[in-house]
Amino acid sequence: MPTVNAIAATSATDPLVRTTIERRDLGPRDIMIEIRYAGICHSDIHTVRGEWGTVPYPLTVGHEIVGKVTAVGAEVTKHAVGDRVGVGCMVNSCRECANCRAGQEQYCLKGNTGTYAGVDRDGSVTQGGYSTHVVVDEDFALVVPESIPYEAAAPLLCAGITTYSPLAHWQAGPGKKVAVVGMGGLGHMGVKIAAAMGAEVTVLSQTLGKKDDGLAFGAEHYYATSDPATFEVLANTFDLIVNTVSAPIDINAYLGLLRLDGTLVSVGAPPEPLPVQVFSLFNNRRSFAGSSIGGIAETQEMLDFCAERGIAPEVEIIDADAVNEAYERVLKSDVRYRFVIDIDSLR
Ligand SMILES: [Zn+2]
Ligand SMILES: [Zn+2]
Repeated sequence: MPTVNAIAATSATDPLVRTTIERRDLGPRDIMIEIRYAGICHSDIHTVRGEWGTVPYPLTVGHEIVGKVTAVGAEVTKHAVGDRVGVGCMVNSCRECANCRAGQEQYCLKGNTGTYAGVDRDGSVTQGGYSTHVVVDEDFALVVPESIPYEAAAPLLCAGITTYSPLAHWQAGPGKKVAVVGMGGLGHMGVKIAAAMGAEVTVLSQTLGKKDDGLAFGAEHYYATSDPATFEVLANTFDLIVNTVSAPIDINAYLGLLRLDGTLVSVGAPPEPLPVQVFSLFNNRRSFAGSSIGGIAETQEMLDFCAERGIAPEVEIIDADAVNEAYERVLKSDVRYRFVIDIDSLR
């Protein structure tokens, strides 16, 4: 089995450290990817710190992976050596259940195989993208269009698809008023994608600190949620609200901003339950929904959409040794807007 350089978490409290991990030998349908960049997602931090359950330490996280194919198994048909590819939040699914057959592998009824901390078909624990190489089944690798630089493509594999999928499902587009709650890694992509789809976009952020950025990304309006007047002015306004905040928010206050048949969809994941008043849903026949990443075909559609429209995340590139510091900055919302690790610094 190939041994490759990586960064791993060894406990919930210790800093991530350089190490080596083993990748499986190339199976007939596998491809080997030389990773160029890996994005840092808030989920990585929740996971390594044990906030989302038991962690199989040592663990290498990272599910925003882009790089170049360096080897392919004998039966591989979708990718060739030299191709630019990406891997997102899952690396396998059962492929047989109704959801998998519907192209919604993220909702596999037997559970999709997470890119890290998942259990692969051979029983091994999956290890993520903070490493120099990864071996994945060809069906779970995406084609990264030439016009998207590698470093900008990385955050699309999680932040991009996580916001694209609900915007597409609830038909953000011309004539629709869409609000994006939070202007972090997810939120800034939500603004760019919703605007590119033709919706009238409003940002709801704690402060007006990122207002200039929000308007530059395509939002038409920008409100501070720390100002109680915001919730009066915008009452009964939106067709769709995408909540990207992974801390608890006053969900009933936000539901009050939905117009008739409006939907509030959460893609941020606070560990605590959110109390929802059913009366908040009665008014205007509102819906409160959730959405998790996207299927493989939809992820490819998102990448192609971003390439066509010239949409890319704002990234700050760091070396592998700066990951622990970057985690602290993510937790303080001190990043505009996504950290991406230059994996060459791990070689
Ligand atoms: Zn993620
Ligand atoms: Zn399935």
